[in-house]
Amino acid sequence: MSNIVAIVGRPNVGKSTLFNRLLERREAIVDSTAGVTRDRHYGKSDWNGVDFTVIDTGGYDVGTDDVFEMEIRKQVQLAVDEATSIIFMVNVEEGLTDTDQEIYELLRKANKPLYLVVNKVDSSKEELPATEFYQLGVEKYYTLSSATGSGTGELLDDVVKDFPTTDYKDPFEGLPKITIAGRPNVGKSTLTNALLDVERNIVTDIAGTTRDSIQTLYNKFGHEFVLVDTAGMRRKSKVNEDLEFYSVMRSIRSIEFSDVVIIMVDATLGWESQDMNIFGLAQKNRKGIVILVNKWDLVEKDTNSTRDFEAAIKNKIGQFTDIPILFVSALTKQRILKAVEVAMEVYNDRAKKIKTSRLNEVMLPVFEALPPPAIKGKYVKIKYCVQLPTPSPQFVFFCNLPQYVKEPYKRFTENQLRKHFGFTGVPIEVYFRQK
Ligand code: GDP
Ligand code: GDP
Repeated sequence: MSNIVAIVGRPNVGKSTLFNRLLERREAIVDSTAGVTRDRHYGKSDWNGVDFTVIDTGGYDVGTDDVFEMEIRKQVQLAVDEATSIIFMVNVEEGLTDTDQEIYELLRKANKPLYLVVNKVDSSKEELPATEFYQLGVEKYYTLSSATGSGTGELLDDVVKDFPTTDYKDPFEGLPKITIAGRPNVGKSTLTNALLDVERNIVTDIAGTTRDSIQTLYNKFGHEFVLVDTAGMRRKSKVNEDLEFYSVMRSIRSIEFSDVVIIMVDATLGWESQDMNIFGLAQKNRKGIVILVNKWDLVEKDTNSTRDFEAAIKNKIGQFTDIPILFVSALTKQRILKAVEVAMEVYNDRAKKIKTSRLNEVMLPVFEALPPPAIKGKYVKIKYCVQLPTPSPQFVFFCNLPQYVKEPYKRFTENQLRKHFGFTGVPIEVYFRQK
């Protein structure tokens, strides 16, 4: 399961600097919700081969004292609710403040691994003033310079070591796992309930329940799969349920746990940045993707409506556009079984393995007909290819000069794979290696 590390602290202590460092070379997903002035930041990182998600709980403007208090409380709440581990950051420049004390008291009550981190210890001369933070009553604190990165190793060693080990045994191992993701109010619960309603009798409800998700076995028309429900999706909790960020955090968990992500979009709102974030998460985690444009019953339609809507989405999602897009109504149950069928197709395509002989038979002539462009008079010769035995399709192409194969040619290769073998809705990785 996914581990979430939250960074909490007063403004300017250096949270986002550490956050960016942890995500180095990994792209941060910035979630700037319309109408919500502050930015939330979350992204993926890893240490010693252990993956985790980092949240920077800050990133807001401080207004009056009241607003400040409220914001701190929200940050703390977020960390307490959603995180596996909490990094509480203070800084040696300003020293220990009353607010630090207050935050620390609140965080301590969460009973989660908590790391006091004294930032801006850029050199040994700040080590001594840092001892002031023992006043919080901690046994240990970590000194850090987020700016240079010194001290991060020691901190992360401990954070990763303390991640809870789960002895959870998946009761549905080997069955397709599908999650329904999307912004609040897009219709996720309605769709979930509609699907389960259809099949009230055969559904094994809440058979596999983890801390993070509810799994429901679904079996209909020869389709057997597990609906991964984020905690609190059907059972809406009162606090902060409307907060975009909470729902996205939940999506992160269930996406990681699934094979296929059904991304629901509100037809009356169109494809927005939050939809893009969810899409990016699914893509980066190499999950199968189906897009459902929901509430289609509310849209005034003419002959080009679906075509235009589809084009608008594909225009925004970037390079990877080979994705099924369906127009549905969870409320009237229009085309929801079709959606299930398509999700299962995507699942099967994602799991598909192309035989090496067939792969070479098809791809080598493609490369011969249109080889990579020569660079400095050197020609790339692609000799052999294989599909790796990974959960999602990854292909290795062996050649003499892999460094000369550039991005456009990789994309060409991917498109050819899609054209010949059909991987609709499935992210593909293409590697060129020396042989
Ligand atoms: P946040 O508001 O907690 O996210 O803080 P930021 O990460 O935006 O940092 C606030 C300021 O402190 C910025 O000007 C950073 O460049 C600076 N800063 C962050 N980390 C360090 C550090 O380790 N040493 C020093 N000297 N400055 C730092
Ligand atoms: P969630 O927050 O994504 O789980 O969204 P809900 O399933 O709670 O739906 C939010 C609201 O949208 C509810 O009032 C639903 O009745 C309504 N809704 C959901 N799907 C549809 C749909 O296909 N058509 C219409 N007209 N309303 C819908």
